[in-house]
Amino acid sequence: MSLVARLFLLLFLATFTSSIFPSPLIAFDEPMQSIKTGNITGVYYAAGSAVAKMHNRKLKEYKLRLIAEASEGSIANIDDVANGLASFGIAQANALYFAKNGEHYWQDTPQDKLRSVLGLYTEAFTIVAAVDAGINSLADLKGKTVNIGELGSTDGIQAKGILNFIGLDLEKDLTITEKPTYEASELLQQGDIDAYFYTVGHPNLSVKEASHGDRKIMIVAPGQELIDFLTSNREDLVERVIPIDYYTEIANKEPVRTIGVKAILFCNTDADEEVVYHMVKEVFENLDLFKQQHPAFANLTPEKLTTELIVPLHPGAKRYFKEAGLLR
Ligand code: GLU
Repeated sequence: MSLVARLFLLLFLATFTSSIFPSPLIAFDEPMQSIKTGNITGVYYAAGSAVAKMHNRKLKEYKLRLIAEASEGSIANIDDVANGLASFGIAQANALYFAKNGEHYWQDTPQDKLRSVLGLYTEAFTIVAAVDAGINSLADLKGKTVNIGELGSTDGIQAKGILNFIGLDLEKDLTITEKPTYEASELLQQGDIDAYFYTVGHPNLSVKEASHGDRKIMIVAPGQELIDFLTSNREDLVERVIPIDYYTEIANKEPVRTIGVKAILFCNTDADEEVVYHMVKEVFENLDLFKQQHPAFANLTPEKLTTELIVPLHPGAKRYFKEAGLLR
């Protein structure tokens, strides 16, 4: 074979093999730290990405890249951060409260190393149901098949508490599935489930996706009695209204009153003070840009970012809040 023919063959093989065997992931040059978030149809993933984006605009100066990592959700994130497997995480205020006090998943193992970095938006306890399932209230869940999310998200703990409150027996009164929430919209459209529970910011891609199938969907209001009961007894839960204007295809005609819980960015006591300081500073000093990263962040204010953080503030965050006059 001539030299030209051999070169041509080599070039051909190189092109061909690289298209069938994808190249390995190329690591970045600078050190990285991860922010554990939630599944990709939720809002944690967008929130972690937005925080990383604000910080990484000064990549060269800070010499560190923050990366948002998808995960099962709050519980998995708290576990990973508490055990040093990830630097940062996002979790619901009530999950941080349970971890701090050694309740539910953390029964008798209180986590005292968790530290808050920033308060984010308020998530809403959401029940998405197929209209044809006839679920107009929590009590109508009796006899239905309901997805409560996978272990690692907080949805399961909450679902069990709420179903208990209304007197439904999880074992006998309904069929529970524990699939990841990113599958729930499809499961609903395929007729595998009648409804799913999801505590999440709004708008989100899960409800949007669920609303685009042939099966008409609605968001079910949990009822004022439950809202009053939960919000009057707990520092971490508030009343919240789910706006519906973004979900043009759903059956609801009015916003839905429900229970709200803050999403909080947190770390553990080992997190580097400079890194936390930079993260907080970049979000604050670019707050307008940060808010544009997702419609769920539209109502963020400096007050929301700095209050009701459940676990003690990390020294890096405290330093920035003090300098910015947000903390005395
Ligand atoms: N609240 C959910 C959880 O704790 C996650 C929601 C989201 O990913 O936006 O697991």
